[in-house]
Amino acid sequence: MNYELDHIDVREAITKLCEGFPNKYWQKCDREKKYPTEFVSKLTEQGYLGVLIPEQYGGLGSPISVGAAILEEIHRSGGNAGACHAQMYTMGTLLRHGSEKQKSEYLPKIAAGDLRLQAFGVTEPNSGTDTLALSTTAKLIDNSYVVNGQKIWTSRAEHSDLLLLLARTTQKESVKNKTDGLSVFIVDMSTVLNKSLRIKKISTMINHSTTELFFDNMLVPVDNLIGEEGKGFRYILSGMNAERILIAAECIGDAKWFIEKASKYASERKVFGRAIGTNQGIQFPIARAYAQMRAAELTLKHAIKLYETGESPGEEANLAKLLCADASWAAAEACLQTFGGFGFAEEYDVERKYREARLYQVAPISTNLILSYLSEHVLAMPRSY
Ligand SMILES: Cc1cc2nc3c(=O)[nH]c(=O)nc-3n(C[C@H](O)[C@H](O)[C@H](O)COP(=O)(O)OP(=O)(O)OC[C@H]3O[C@@H](n4cnc5c(N)ncnc54)[C@H](O)[C@@H]3O)c2cc1C
Repeated sequence: MNYELDHIDVREAITKLCEGFPNKYWQKCDREKKYPTEFVSKLTEQGYLGVLIPEQYGGLGSPISVGAAILEEIHRSGGNAGACHAQMYTMGTLLRHGSEKQKSEYLPKIAAGDLRLQAFGVTEPNSGTDTLALSTTAKLIDNSYVVNGQKIWTSRAEHSDLLLLLARTTQKESVKNKTDGLSVFIVDMSTVLNKSLRIKKISTMINHSTTELFFDNMLVPVDNLIGEEGKGFRYILSGMNAERILIAAECIGDAKWFIEKASKYASERKVFGRAIGTNQGIQFPIARAYAQMRAAELTLKHAIKLYETGESPGEEANLAKLLCADASWAAAEACLQTFGGFGFAEEYDVERKYREARLYQVAPISTNLILSYLSEHVLAMPRSY
C-alpha cells in the first residue's frame, strides 16, 4: 500500500527511525505511563523537531508538508507523536509574533535540541472551550508580570523547558473588544518550578503526560511577553491552521496503521476454515474506512497546499482536521471489530492505538467546535455561542 509519495525521503527516514522503537517500546511506555524520552531524544538529535524553524535560526526552514509527513509516519508506524508534536506548532507563535531578540535567543536553542518548547498552557478548569473566559491573570509590577491562577491539560509540562502561556492582562470588563486583554508569554519553567509554579500529573486513558499547573505569584520578566500586551488571543488563533493541519496528518497516519493492520489480519485469521476477510461483513468496513481516509487525505493535501502558498486556509484546515479525525476513528472501529477479542489484548497494539485515536475527537479542538466554525464562518449561520 505505497500510495503516499510526498517527501518520500523524509518518510523513509522516519520509518527507519521508528523501527528502533517497536511496539514493545510503546506498550511499555503506555503500561507504565512513561514519557517516551528515548524516542523524543532520537527525533530531536536527528533534527526532526526543528524542521519548521527557519534556517537563519538553525532549523531547516522546511514547509509544513515536511512536518506533516514526519508526524504522519510516526503514527503510521504505530508510534505516537503526541509526546512531541507541540513544538512544531507552538514555535510558530514565537516566530510570527516574537521580537528579534526573543527569536534569536530561543529558536536556535530549540532547533539544536538544547531547549524544549513542548508545553502550551491555554485551557483552564473553568473556561474549557471558551478560551476568552480564562481567569489566570498576569499583572505588570515593575519589570515583571506576576502570574496567578491555574491551567489544566497542559501536556508535556514535565518534559519541557519552556511554556507558552496565555493569561489575562486586562480584566474582561475593561476591554473594548472581547478578544482583547489576553497576552502570550514564553516562560522558562526551570527558574520557577516547585517555587511559584507547581505541576500536578493527570492520569488519563492514554499515555499523554498531561498535567495541571498552579501559579502562585509566578514572576515572568517583561521581556518574555510575546508581541503586544492584550493581543495574545489573536496570536494563538493565528497558529491554529498549522495545528489543525499537523494533527490531521497524525490522524491519517493512524488511519493507515489501522487499515493495514486490519486488512492483514483479515487475510490471515481463519475461522470456520477460511480467512475472516472472505466475509464481506469484515471486508466492507475496512474498505469503507480506506475510502474515507483517502478522501480526508486529499482534503488535508489541499489545506497544506493553500497554507504553503501563503494563504490562511481556515476552512480547509478545519475540514481536514474534522475529516481526518473521523477517518482515523472509522478505521479504528473497523480494525478493533476485525480483531475481535484479540483487539483487546495489549500485545496487538490495537487497543492502545484505539484509545489514542479517540483523543482527536476532543483535543486539541473538539469536533463540535469545528462544526460551529463551519456553520458560522463558512455557511454564514448564526453564531451558536
Ligand atoms: C489528553 C489531553 C491533552 C490536552 N492537551 C492540552 C494542552 O497541551 N494545552 C491546552 O491548553 N489544552 C490541552 N487540552 C485541552 C483540550 O484542548 C480541551 O479538552 C478541549 O479544547 C475541550 O475543552 P474541555 O475539555 O474543557 O471541554 P468543555 O469546554 O467543557 O466542553 C465539553 C463538551 O461540550 C462541547 N461544547 C462546549 N461548548 C459547546 C458549544 N458552544 N457548542 C457545541 N458543543 C460545545 C465540547 O465540544 C465538548 O464536547 C488537552 C486535553 C486532553 C484531553
